[in-house]
Amino acid sequence: MKKDIAYTHEQLKKDMSHLARNFHELEWGSIGKSVWGKELFYIRLGRGETKISFNGAHHGMEWITAQLLMKFAADFLEAEKKNAGFGGFLPRALSRKTSLYIVPMVNPDGVELATMGLPEQLSAELKNQLIKFNGSKNFERWQANARGVDLNHNYDGMWEMSKKMEKEYGILGPGPTRYSGGVPFSEPESRALVRFTREHNFKMTIAFHSQGKVIYHGFQKKEPPISLKIAKAFEKISPYRIDQTEGIASYGGYKDWFVEEFRRVGFTIEVGEGQNPLPLSQFPKIYRETLPILLGAMTVGL
Ligand SMILES: [Zn+2]
Repeated sequence: MKKDIAYTHEQLKKDMSHLARNFHELEWGSIGKSVWGKELFYIRLGRGETKISFNGAHHGMEWITAQLLMKFAADFLEAEKKNAGFGGFLPRALSRKTSLYIVPMVNPDGVELATMGLPEQLSAELKNQLIKFNGSKNFERWQANARGVDLNHNYDGMWEMSKKMEKEYGILGPGPTRYSGGVPFSEPESRALVRFTREHNFKMTIAFHSQGKVIYHGFQKKEPPISLKIAKAFEKISPYRIDQTEGIASYGGYKDWFVEEFRRVGFTIEVGEGQNPLPLSQFPKIYRETLPILLGAMTVGL
């Protein structure tokens, strides 16, 4: 892959300060820090009463979802400032109705590993441990955080089922993907997102992953009936299709925990099509395809 053009935490930091400089009213900050001390940034769009949230890049190879959410935020803020239309909507009207909290990159350490490999400054001991977890010096297919825990298996949405199935998938400990951790919420990144979610009492959440052009909604039939209605509306306005998760992917995810804990509307949306990491050349298409969902989510009455 072309390492020079992947969307990294460094780029995210630049984009965050760019937004802060251009939009003085913008509420933004950090919900916590990653294992390696990177800030887990958030941005708030809108001031409305209905609070919803988006997050991206739970997985290292899926950095394109962070870029997607950051471009969306920048374009939204720009249109809002000018009171211009955006994708058929008026951001100022959406802002009155909804507050959207975006955490673009939940797993910055994983993104760094997948795009740049082992960081230079890491101790020899930690480097060797990660190489052991990975089974190779090539980290291009790394999805987990810096401790080899797959964050999207670390939430307590029937976590024990995810744990139980690991052996069937040959997962015996920390590694590049699907290891759920020793206990639920064992990782600083998942704990930070859980705390942030509880604090804000979101009515709806969408976790963006790649790839497959699919919409996963609900969890164990614990979602309210409106969940399927919204998923069907998303199908109408995008080329993405409702699907069901299978096997180990069915438990322990952020969306799973959210639906189980709050009995509210939670989605996992897999953007783009192909093999991870999706090439940057797909970005314009992904943006075009998902924009109606990103904006549409802000119009939902909850
Ligand atoms: Zn993912």
